[in-house]
Amino acid sequence: MRFGVVEQRLVLVGENSASDVERASDGRFSADPTAVFEEWPKLVEWAESIEPDEFALDANQLRNPVPRPRQVFGVGTNYRRHVLEAGGKIPDAPLIFTKFPSCLTGPQGQIPLPSAKVDWEAELVVVIGLLAERVEEKDGWRHVAGLSVGQDISERVLQLTGPYAQFSLGKSFPGFGPLGPVLVTPDEFDDPDDLELGCAVDEQVMQHGRTSDLIFAVPELIARLSAVCPLLPGDVIFTGTPEGVGAFRSPPVFLRPGQTLTSWVQGIGELRNPVVAGPDYWKG
Ligand code: ZN
Repeated sequence: MRFGVVEQRLVLVGENSASDVERASDGRFSADPTAVFEEWPKLVEWAESIEPDEFALDANQLRNPVPRPRQVFGVGTNYRRHVLEAGGKIPDAPLIFTKFPSCLTGPQGQIPLPSAKVDWEAELVVVIGLLAERVEEKDGWRHVAGLSVGQDISERVLQLTGPYAQFSLGKSFPGFGPLGPVLVTPDEFDDPDDLELGCAVDEQVMQHGRTSDLIFAVPELIARLSAVCPLLPGDVIFTGTPEGVGAFRSPPVFLRPGQTLTSWVQGIGELRNPVVAGPDYWKG
């Protein structure tokens, strides 16, 4: 099943059509895309029998499917080939940061540049559908509502400014968390642990990898995170980026105003985010 948000309402998405969840369920399930995660397993069970054909859907109508998560986790250096391009060693524990939720935007949201060192990171995004507290790895997927495409946009100077690197701030400017276009339930994939993903700047493909290259795969991330923080329904995890970011190119390449960043994950869809000039972030 595929879920999306149109005009701030949760919809069940079909091929070229959709149905409003609240209307199709006669009010049993809310149209509020945030509240609905509290009863996600029941929603999915109900949606199995629904044909999403209430209205014609243009993909341009879809907005961020998870507009107000309570917690957003990011995972750094989580693809083997990305760690190697960065000249690092394969880590024995994941590097975790947050993207503050105010940075989230939709599948066509603008990315304003606060500096000339802003980079792309195409990522598989996991959304939690069932409270996860100290979950074992084997039960990880059971706690996932669905998968989406994300961009972990990163300002590389601020990310590394201060006495220690502080990823959270450098990755949380407005527009730095494009998400969408839909949320796809894990059962829709033959193997949700091996999905092709990538991104392109204008026509040039910059990243192209597979989630089977993840060092800490989705079930292990859920186990490790939920050992510390209970994962709440609707929480978002940016799972890490494959090789091909701009900062590790020789010479480095960064986003420029006027470009379009396209990002995709197999079986989910694509984001198309225009890059625009933004205010410089710090004049001190
Ligand atoms: Zn990232």
